Amino acid sequence: MTPFRPRADLPTHEVTNMPPYIGDQDLWVDDRALREAVAREGAAGHTAALAAFGERAGAGEVFELADQANANPPELKAFDRHGMRVDQVAFHPAYHRLLDIAISGEVGNFAWRHPGPGAHVGHAALNYMFGQPEGGALCPMAMTYSVIPSLKWTESIAEEWLPRLLSTSYDARDIPVEDKTGATMGMFMTEKQGGSDVRSNSTRARPLGAATGPGAEYLLTGHKFFCSAPMCDAFLTLAYTEAGLSCFLVPRWRPEGERNGLYIQRLKDKLGNRSNASSEIELRDTWGCMLGEEGRGIRVIIDMVQGNRYYCAATSAGLMRQALVQCLHHVSHRAAFQRKLVDQPLMRNVVADLALEAEAGIALTLRIGRAMDEAQDNPGAAALARIGTAIAKYWVCKRAPAHVGEALECLGGPGYIEDSLLPRLYREAPLNSIWEGSGNVMCLDVLRAMAREGEAIPALLAELDAARGGDVRLDAAADRLRDELAVPEDLELRARGLVERMAVTLQGALLVRHAPAAVADAFCASRLGAEWHGAYGALSPGADFDAIIARAGGDRA
Ligand SMILES: Cc1cc2nc3c(=O)[nH]c(=O)nc-3n(C[C@H](O)[C@H](O)[C@H](O)COP(=O)(O)OP(=O)(O)OC[C@H]3O[C@@H](n4cnc5c(N)ncnc54)[C@H](O)[C@@H]3O)c2cc1C
Repeated sequence: MTPFRPRADLPTHEVTNMPPYIGDQDLWVDDRALREAVAREGAAGHTAALAAFGERAGAGEVFELADQANANPPELKAFDRHGMRVDQVAFHPAYHRLLDIAISGEVGNFAWRHPGPGAHVGHAALNYMFGQPEGGALCPMAMTYSVIPSLKWTESIAEEWLPRLLSTSYDARDIPVEDKTGATMGMFMTEKQGGSDVRSNSTRARPLGAATGPGAEYLLTGHKFFCSAPMCDAFLTLAYTEAGLSCFLVPRWRPEGERNGLYIQRLKDKLGNRSNASSEIELRDTWGCMLGEEGRGIRVIIDMVQGNRYYCAATSAGLMRQALVQCLHHVSHRAAFQRKLVDQPLMRNVVADLALEAEAGIALTLRIGRAMDEAQDNPGAAALARIGTAIAKYWVCKRAPAHVGEALECLGGPGYIEDSLLPRLYREAPLNSIWEGSGNVMCLDVLRAMAREGEAIPALLAELDAARGGDVRLDAAADRLRDELAVPEDLELRARGLVERMAVTLQGALLVRHAPAAVADAFCASRLGAEWHGAYGALSPGADFDAIIARAGGDRA
């Protein structure tokens, strides 16, 4: 949507040197790194769907809907006008529109609706694109996607819920799910006394009748401290039975058609992700049915956690891409000291460096997506998917806040002002690094994968070997990683450094094999060579800035 043409001749001065409205973006066509990665990681067959969605999600109208939804955050409506408890959340109409666009675009279920080659790669690409205008509506999409493998632990529950979750119809009504045209799901794991350490959960479950075990009915009592998207139709949660921590599916409505005992205490006042509701909930004799074996709740819900972690990596890569797009637009139209910013040598260095990071982020994410797609019949791929998800969740999410902050600075003062998209991206950026496993927890998860899955490190090293000989700095970094892996002492203390090296060598290997020489060379020199610097914009003068910036879309202006 292009707004009316603004007046440049004000009574006191003429407005000059201000970039034009960025307008509609094509999140697919404009993004060469994305298109190439999708094709090489096995999702070329989904090109038409991804192209259509990229055009739709990039429309100026979608960015404006996201602005409205974030400027008008949800409100808790705990009671109706008669004083009856309803525990509803009222959202701005723009949020409903965004969810409609996401659900009809298969953002929450693409991988399961199109099983086969490219399923998770295509899915990740959709999330990467939709997260650029809006993060808040993505949260229930992430959980609806990731819950599917957990539901399969109990066949009767999967049979009942999968068709609802695979629907492409957005039905916002707060009514029993049997009467709805589609459904979404969330998760309640975190409690006040412990989030990462879920074994410290205090919620208890007791059988409602004589039956116990998978599919049986229970009543849950306790609290959950972080419950995002509480308007979902059902949630997975953990509670203790006598046999230990178990997983339960808790619907908003009980089977007999009464509201379930989900008492929303308040909505969180969050740094970002403001269009999405995140709540605190008390459970009092709340109806739930057991999912998976009694006492094996963590094993069941970890499948959902794993999917959410993959989503975090994909959408953090998307945040970096959109920050880069906004930055490129600004510096291509703004001049200072008689020269366009994009032509100032030092700005070229910053922008090129941001472009490298964004491309490395999506390259790593989609490679892991392919491993997920191949995991069923290929133990090596399954191991790479397992360890690679943790590596990508740690590193891509960790890189996003500094990346977005640097892109924001490229806009100068306007970057700090709400009118530009950057403050919203900046507030969104740390979130993916926190939920579903904060940085340290992800590094510990990499160690767990190394310890439990014999194939994990060989699969990782095979990826590096595939690029051997392509760049001496990459080869040296891969050798150093091998040496570090051979040292068993102090693994926990060294985990961040180790996982970072895994991530950047993996990214380097992918870029050396698949990206243009300019990108691969500058990435290896800056991330793997001796010249690593803390801040963006310190690439060596020998880097091919023109090629890197043009590839990122800097020649579009
Ligand atoms: C906006 C938002 C939405 C959320 N939505 C949901 C939701 O819908 N459902 C849900 O269940 N949860 C949700 N969460 C909660 C989130 O998943 C947790 O906050 C997160 O898992 C961390 O748990 P915690 O807050 O209890 O921190 P803690 O577990 O107390 O961790 C605090 C810090 O200690 C570090 N740490 C923990 N253990 C170790 C260790 N062994 N060694 C070294 N460092 C360690 C962590 O990395 C972290 O940096 C949400 C959080 C946010 C911010």
